[in-house]
Amino acid sequence: MRVAVGGYLVTANTFATQRLSLERFQRSVLSGHDMLNRLGRGDGAVAGFMRGAREHGWDLVALHFMFPGLLGKVPEEAHQWGKETFVSTLRKAGPVDGVFVQLHGTAVSDHTDDCDGDLLGSIREVVGDNTPIIASLDGHANVTPLMVRQASMLIGVKTNPHYDFAAVGHQAARVMAQMFDRSVQPFAAWAQPAMVPPLQKLYIAPGWPMDHLMRLARKRAADKRVLDVSLLGGFFVSERPETGLSVVATTNGEPGLAVEIAEQIKDACWSRRHQFHADLVSVEDAVREAIASDETPVVLGDVADSGGAGTPGDGTAILAELLKHNARGAVVGNIADPGAVAEAVGSGVGSTVKLTVGGKTDRFHGAPVAISGRVRTIHDGVFTAATPFNAGTYHRGTTVVVDCGGVEVILTARPTLVFEANHFRSLGIEPAERKILVCKAELQHRAGLARIGRTFIDVDAPGLATQVLSRLPFSKIRRPVFPLDDI
Ligand SMILES: [Zn+2]
Repeated sequence: MRVAVGGYLVTANTFATQRLSLERFQRSVLSGHDMLNRLGRGDGAVAGFMRGAREHGWDLVALHFMFPGLLGKVPEEAHQWGKETFVSTLRKAGPVDGVFVQLHGTAVSDHTDDCDGDLLGSIREVVGDNTPIIASLDGHANVTPLMVRQASMLIGVKTNPHYDFAAVGHQAARVMAQMFDRSVQPFAAWAQPAMVPPLQKLYIAPGWPMDHLMRLARKRAADKRVLDVSLLGGFFVSERPETGLSVVATTNGEPGLAVEIAEQIKDACWSRRHQFHADLVSVEDAVREAIASDETPVVLGDVADSGGAGTPGDGTAILAELLKHNARGAVVGNIADPGAVAEAVGSGVGSTVKLTVGGKTDRFHGAPVAISGRVRTIHDGVFTAATPFNAGTYHRGTTVVVDCGGVEVILTARPTLVFEANHFRSLGIEPAERKILVCKAELQHRAGLARIGRTFIDVDAPGLATQVLSRLPFSKIRRPVFPLDDI
């Protein structure tokens, strides 16, 4: 069997002002043997699929793996270029027996609300109706009917933070093998409650609503007639009409059962919708509580400026409040500000600097803040996360720690998610010994610092990943939808 494999890990924060360039999109692309070698060593969906392909003795046809990073809407020319590149390689490869694609499931370009469905449709045109196309999805995918129609099967990850991509890729290979020997015929039903949850509430851990719902999905998936039940949390910052929670239930040729499962889980989500209200504390109260707390370290989540949701990572509101109160033992995880980093590097380690940091990319993430302190560390910004999710090596660009007395400020050249211990330890900061840790993440900090943090407070700071959805200028999402409408 010849099976084509690739990835379109393209996503967008449709409210963000920063844009990808076509050139940056093109630079992100892995192709051919290089793609297979690099991804095959990892723990992603493609690696899991490749493992399955080896077990079945298939020949792999490498397509492309596109991973340009997350900013605002994808420029139309970049999406069109990506799709054409994907499809022309597939066409040139000649007949294939199956296609596996890893999708994020949230790509929106200037003129295409559903780039993922658009890509799957183009692949379908090339391979015809009878060739299996299986796509894996990120747990934040905003699934559309077009995606469901064009793929033979969609399989989402079941964890958040996500660490089961390889298992999903392997599952895709297993089902594809069964499709090849005609022992299964997938039928997918998609259902969607009128809900668009804040990212903060998608944490899958005991006591959280998604944990309960995911357990229901797993229970229904245990039925022998069922191939997969995926519950996708959605990604509200990437707006298309279908943005939000969705269920895809896939059975072996039993349409009625697939629809019944999808509807049951949809209804279960809907009945718990009030558990998905954002849970936030104002900047002033959060800093006051953190300073007064005996249960330390207190982890303050700057959830509106998460490095994972396409925001600039230079939000300053929490930093400003900590400085105002002369907080002791506080570390402010990244403020991305290449100019301030360059100034600090120019002054050198041990020097005292006065800098104006953050709040410079747009008007949505607080004003620039004046700091003065000693440059304690200059670092190349490279570190490896020690967590099973969001694993890998991070490149923050040149990174500086400025010690402002009670508040240590980490300045980076590039925005990154701030969610785990090595981010701090790589800079000589032991997070367990600090009183207050400011992270930039949606929920990953709760898992990444679970063993270190004693108190977690998500902060209602300003930002384009604000968890208060009514502050964002939604224009395309279906209405009414909870929590934007009082339903
Ligand atoms: Zn995700």
